[in-house]
Amino acid sequence: MKIVLKFGGTSISTAKNIRKVASYIHSLSKQNQVVVVCSAIDGITDDLIQTSRFIQRGNKESANRLTAKIISRHKQLAKETITKPQNRKKLLDALSSDLAELEDLLHGVILLGEVSSRSLDYIVSFGERLSIKIIAHALLDLGRKSVPLTGKEAGIVTDSNFGESRPLMDTTRLRVIKNVDSLLSKKIVPVIGGFAGADQYGNITTFGRGGSDYTATIIASCIKADEIWLMTDVDGLMTADPKTVKNAKVLKEVSYAEAIEMALFGAKQIHPRTFEPLLSKKIPMRIRNTFNTKNLGTMVTASPGEATKKTVKCVSTIRHNGLIDVRGGSMVGAPGTAAKIFATLAKSGVNVMMISQNPSESSISIIVKQSDLDKAVNALEMELLGKIIKKLEITTDVAIIALIGSGMRGTIGVASRVFGSVAKKGVNVVMIAQGSSELNLAFVVKDSDCKNVVQALHDEFELAKIN
Ligand code: ASP
Ligand code: MG
Repeated sequence: MKIVLKFGGTSISTAKNIRKVASYIHSLSKQNQVVVVCSAIDGITDDLIQTSRFIQRGNKESANRLTAKIISRHKQLAKETITKPQNRKKLLDALSSDLAELEDLLHGVILLGEVSSRSLDYIVSFGERLSIKIIAHALLDLGRKSVPLTGKEAGIVTDSNFGESRPLMDTTRLRVIKNVDSLLSKKIVPVIGGFAGADQYGNITTFGRGGSDYTATIIASCIKADEIWLMTDVDGLMTADPKTVKNAKVLKEVSYAEAIEMALFGAKQIHPRTFEPLLSKKIPMRIRNTFNTKNLGTMVTASPGEATKKTVKCVSTIRHNGLIDVRGGSMVGAPGTAAKIFATLAKSGVNVMMISQNPSESSISIIVKQSDLDKAVNALEMELLGKIIKKLEITTDVAIIALIGSGMRGTIGVASRVFGSVAKKGVNVVMIAQGSSELNLAFVVKDSDCKNVVQALHDEFELAKIN
């Protein structure tokens, strides 16, 4: 089989974990063609972003201190991971030259006193640039030939939308096939850095946070892999958050469409565009636990087997949000009102998570992250209050509860079971939304009611018995 194996940051956070990952790759690559994609070492992307923030605020000392920490962490990991002296030296030399470039780059932006989105992508790309070298050398240490490639070196070409780039798939495909397949045919394991690529002028770009998942599916689609495995620190997608629901189960099989919905919630956050490259090629994906490889995890396919087509497959939550209820008589029948409200929120950088409007049109309810609530209310007050809006009503600390499952489509009575169970718990529903895809039924309750409701729904749809 041709498998793309993607490891997240927590899978490679310590020397012990890296060695474990390397021996797993090594044994798997005896019988299969394996391409590895990996994230930065756990926490490093955050550190690089924080360093840039310090620079932006003119806090040179803190920036230097954090840079020193990033450098010593990688050197320390290299020393602890690699046992053979000649391999260790090779790795330390390779890291030193990257780290020197990072230091030069940071000094450059310190002099400039500003970090453009283009420089930021260049800076944060170092996380993966360093981690791939450590993994590749850990494989060499086991006697398995391996070559580290950054996203750019692997052939990922993107547009120049720094921080949120998209791949130019046709060019990327040609280059990736050439670079990656040639290594595979020589029985060399490519270890590719996730998250970043380069635009057509060679500037480093990134796909946005969590983008290594996306890199993995792009590569899988280019080389027509048989499967892609996202190796992470949970057993797979689950029927509910196991911290909330004791008898939550790992889902054996879900569809791409369901996984896209689940990716936004839950313990395993997946980059939102991850599934795009898989859809046309129908490459199956497994979500598996690096630390529990006996478990087969969750299989994500275009069309799951009949047996797994349950009405509701999981009860997910997004907790601690703010609700803004926008009211105003002059909103009724006035085209463009919603556009103005959402444009105002967009301009102030607030992401809207959920919306609902009644046909009476006299109010629109909006859910935003609790941390965005201040900014959102401020912007709406400044721009629209007293004009198209008469009143803003705010509720803090609410939870979104979403039921996901393609079997809900066209099934009569799901909503009645859902709200019946909520009512039995004596909980008030503040807002409801269901798109016409009927894949996802979401509603909002007070955060303090969340746990109770999730357990009740998990019981009502017998999710503990799902597999
Ligand atoms: N290292 C990047 C991040 O932390 C990309 C990834 O982990 O997928 O966002
Ligand atoms: Mg990550």
